[in-house]
Amino acid sequence: MLFNVIYYSLRGVAMQSKIRLLNIIKILEKIYVPWKWEIRDPFKILVSTILSQRTSWINVRKAINQLERKVGIDPKSIAEADLESIKESIKVAGLYNAKSIRIKEIARIIMEKYDGNLSKVLNLPLEDARKELLRLPGVGFKTADVILLFAANKPVFPVDTHIMRISRRLGIIKGKINYENIRHTWEKALPRNKYAVAHILLIMFGREICKGGKPLCDKCPIARFCEFYKKLKGGTRSESSKERITL
Ligand code: SF4
Repeated sequence: MLFNVIYYSLRGVAMQSKIRLLNIIKILEKIYVPWKWEIRDPFKILVSTILSQRTSWINVRKAINQLERKVGIDPKSIAEADLESIKESIKVAGLYNAKSIRIKEIARIIMEKYDGNLSKVLNLPLEDARKELLRLPGVGFKTADVILLFAANKPVFPVDTHIMRISRRLGIIKGKINYENIRHTWEKALPRNKYAVAHILLIMFGREICKGGKPLCDKCPIARFCEFYKKLKGGTRSESSKERITL
């Protein structure tokens, strides 16, 4: 009897939290038109994600265009190119010394291990493909999951810094706040065919409203679902000073 009560109340809580996340995405869908993910080639996604570290997507696009023109963006062309040409092409994206070495090293490994064809990895079962991608230098959970979702349509929900911050502020994570926990929370709540659009919508929302510095809570369309906002309005927290330290 007691077991049943606990079981059904836990199920009720899980269901409520799922509905909450679905509602959040529905609201964001009414506000934003999600941008189209244009790059489908797994190697290009990988290169773009490395280039995107500590720079804007405008610069990434410029760097990608130049790299495409001057070197070519496929494992063979990059592995055979001289480092200086890669550096020169991606300069606009910043940190070009480290980024060019990493891109070239990854291209070399893909040539050696997978005959230059990253699709061989993406055709593996999800967890095996993820493990293989994570073995590449400089590839973390986010990069691996972006490739798996956008290039291979695998059922994973990539978590970037915006999504991590928003999830933390919303108070939706039970237990440890880490990448895997946040990913599983969104994956359980959303239907698979919503992962890509929800990922993009949350990033747009994080850039415009739930910003890294001071969030624009008074303009926020999902404030009623947010723990951070409740505490803010309840006066138990003074603005975002704590947030800045812990994010
Ligand atoms: S209320 Fe503020 S902290 Fe909460 S989700 Fe909205 S912008 Fe972010």
